[in-house]
Amino acid sequence: MPQSDWPPEVLDGTAGLLPGPLSRDGYPGPGRAATPRGSAPRGAEPAVPVRVGELLPGVCRELVARAADPDRYDRWSRLVASTGNCAQPVRLTGTVHRVDGSTGEVRSSYDTAAEPDGVLLVACRNRRASVCPPCSETYRADTYQLIAAGLRGGKGTPPTVAAHPRVFLTLTAPSFGVVHTIRTDPASGRPRRCHERREAGFCPHGRRTSCSRRHPADDPDLGTPLCGDCYDYTGAVLFNALAPELWRRLCIYLRRDLARASGLTVAEFNARVRLRFAKVAEAQRRGLVHLHAVLRLDAATPDADGQTAVPPPGFDAALLIQAVHAAAGRVRVDVDAGNGLRRSLSWGQQLDVRPLAGSVPVLDQNPAAAGGEAPQAPDESAVAAYLAKYVTKATDHVGLAPRRLTVETVAELDPARHLHRMALTGWQLGARTELAELRLRRWAHMLGFRGHVATRSRAYSTTLGALRAARAAWRQDTSGGLLDNTHRPVDPSDVDLEQPSGADAASDPAGEPSVLLVSAWRFAGSGHRTTGDAVLAASAAASARERREAIRLDRWWTRYLDEQKASLR
Ligand SMILES: [Zn+2]
Ligand SMILES: [Zn+2]
Ligand SMILES: [Zn+2]
Repeated sequence: MPQSDWPPEVLDGTAGLLPGPLSRDGYPGPGRAATPRGSAPRGAEPAVPVRVGELLPGVCRELVARAADPDRYDRWSRLVASTGNCAQPVRLTGTVHRVDGSTGEVRSSYDTAAEPDGVLLVACRNRRASVCPPCSETYRADTYQLIAAGLRGGKGTPPTVAAHPRVFLTLTAPSFGVVHTIRTDPASGRPRRCHERREAGFCPHGRRTSCSRRHPADDPDLGTPLCGDCYDYTGAVLFNALAPELWRRLCIYLRRDLARASGLTVAEFNARVRLRFAKVAEAQRRGLVHLHAVLRLDAATPDADGQTAVPPPGFDAALLIQAVHAAAGRVRVDVDAGNGLRRSLSWGQQLDVRPLAGSVPVLDQNPAAAGGEAPQAPDESAVAAYLAKYVTKATDHVGLAPRRLTVETVAELDPARHLHRMALTGWQLGARTELAELRLRRWAHMLGFRGHVATRSRAYSTTLGALRAARAAWRQDTSGGLLDNTHRPVDPSDVDLEQPSGADAASDPAGEPSVLLVSAWRFAGSGHRTTGDAVLAASAAASARERREAIRLDRWWTRYLDEQKASLR
């Protein structure tokens, strides 16, 4: 099967990005997407309905051409809807045959030749809001469901997990040099000067070591070093690259500490308790990764029903919080790349660990993080929403294009700009054989960070795949027969971008084990074919969002009225 037809950017999940020049802010310029004739360049603008009067004549022509045949238009708009109104859909041509495995008889066939424009549209599934707002919204919502299910149950996880010890923690990066920052006076809440010093000195590069400005929140200098030549770019990039390893070691230390605190060996602990987590990486303005995570303690063996069970007594949130503080302070990763390039990396001093509402109430044991205030116990929804928020941002706001650097694009980086210099440092370090396994050239555009933005331990809760499958089944039910007619046996969202072609008995929607789906797909392009199509899809996305809002408001209102009625009884 022609797997090689798939361009690497599709297989990497960065579909929708065609090569184009970098603009001044580091994002791809107007050349990023195929710009149709006579149309305005389009990127991934937020989905806002556009008034016809604001459209260029060329785009109007495209709209009219699309709507000219009501049947074809209806089919096209259903295809777009089935991608969740994706802004950068992958266009595929190909066929799917349902073949009887025992006789080899072709039972039915689907060919994209019969579709409008002869293509099937597949959602890009990009998690970045700057690339595709609708797909990133789907990704965010799925991540929310996944994290919330691990905290309060649902989607196959028992609701009893809400009674398990659960904590929410934020691990920060250490300092690699003084950066411009916003400081507030903890007493008055008023903004303080950035880095004021009585005896204002100069660094060896002749730059001031103090900054008496009060930076506004949108100051582009925020997060940039006072002196770029004093700043430890090597350390910063290596920290990002090794943050996943720091996390792995933290978990090992945590198990050890929890075992020791309860008088058990690690083996005895592992036989009784499981440490489960979900975590999300967030790129700070200074280009360093922070990790936000929820930790949960479960019993090592499931209950009689095969469900996740409460850990043995004694393993509570207080113990977990204590262990996190002890372990996070000790974790180190040493790197020695020769030539005096040596770093000992650890988590930053700022560590925030809180129990989740519903856990055993404990006091935050880190007075520095709590800032002297009473510790707050955030609830599950707030934490899930907080974590899910980051997955669509990742490094979007750091000012680098979300794609791998090449010899050409590296040359366009400006070493005077902080984040560009980080990427450049990653690229340069990537040439060192001692650091080969960090594959820093591959991840230089992520400033060295090579982990997944969101990860979770096994058995934390459901999976993104399961949520997608549930949605596909729901669409099949609500698509008015579109997705289950015999002429079209696949749901576009079932076309797995990692496994684009081939026979797969498991994917047969009819569930007949003897029937194979034999498919052959060819990449026909990414993004909408014309700006007119993109405008229509963005309008549909905006309407869908409004409908969702209306449903949410309606649910809230119903619940409110029910509560009022109940209180009057
Ligand atoms: Zn998309
Ligand atoms: Zn400053
Ligand atoms: Zn300096």
